[in-house]
Amino acid sequence: MNRTRTGAVAPTHASRGLGVRCEEVVHIYRADGTDVVAVRGVDLVVPAGERVALLGPSGSGKSTLLAMLGGLLPPSAGRVLIGDDELTGAGEAALLRMRAHRVGIVLQGAARNLLPYATPLQNVRFAQRSLSRARRREVMRPDELLDALGLAALADAPVPQLSGGEQQRVALAVAVANAPGLLLADEPTSQLDHPSRDAVLDLLDEVNRRFGTTIVVVTHDPDVGARLGRTVTMRYGRVGQEGRHGEQFAVVGKDGSVALPDTVVADWPPGTEVLVERDGDSIRLRRRDS
Ligand code: ADP
Ligand code: MG
Repeated sequence: MNRTRTGAVAPTHASRGLGVRCEEVVHIYRADGTDVVAVRGVDLVVPAGERVALLGPSGSGKSTLLAMLGGLLPPSAGRVLIGDDELTGAGEAALLRMRAHRVGIVLQGAARNLLPYATPLQNVRFAQRSLSRARRREVMRPDELLDALGLAALADAPVPQLSGGEQQRVALAVAVANAPGLLLADEPTSQLDHPSRDAVLDLLDEVNRRFGTTIVVVTHDPDVGARLGRTVTMRYGRVGQEGRHGEQFAVVGKDGSVALPDTVVADWPPGTEVLVERDGDSIRLRRRDS
């Protein structure tokens, strides 16, 4: 692959990354009189320029949380801040501007992200259509982006002729085309083989390094989590645990609750009474003898 290596160039725009802050964020889907509480109080801080993988079983609220970070779904309660801007209560015009200029989003289902009858090259050019001349010189060129993702030979093929995995990579190229301050990607490697997945991860690295882009990726792939460095694992609409460079941490919630590792939960079902014994900096948990 003929990639442009830009690691040696000083990142002149490293400060452009947008941090994320969620405070007690809740989302409830209301459908036919039944409520589904998809996100039940998430507190999460992602500093500008950080790279995070959102993990967790299917149905745990990952996509819902990501959509709220992108201003695509309003929180039912709580606050979401992107950079200094509070999304809660922001008007549709402000949210559209944010998505057009500062936040790149890849939704689940690659085709939803693309102009269907255009080519990959046209899709990327369209994403860059409103850049100023000065900005255009800073961002990655369309051919450079498509080449980095192994799509150079398909640049002029109509999108419907591309495979799911190819469309998925075009969607990512479109999402990073404006060198956004924040990239939100929902399962961007789910349809990719390992070489394509690694090309995607290399591009995320490059965008993060070159533009300071904060990256939040929903994934099922532990290897993707390992590459990004920080993992946030969701369970039942809450942040269950965090991993940093391979070490796993339980997270204390606002109500003092701590999510136990799955291996412990298997032996201690909900309702188990646990004695908490404190010994200096250490805390031991002991099941009540029945
Ligand atoms: P994940 O991405 O972790 O698989 P989701 O955020 O898609 O989880 O879903 C969280 C919960 O919300 C699930 O119980 C799911 O069934 C429900 N849900 C998702 N989208 C909708 C919707 N549009 N209407 C009703 N319920 C939904
Ligand atoms: Mg999902």
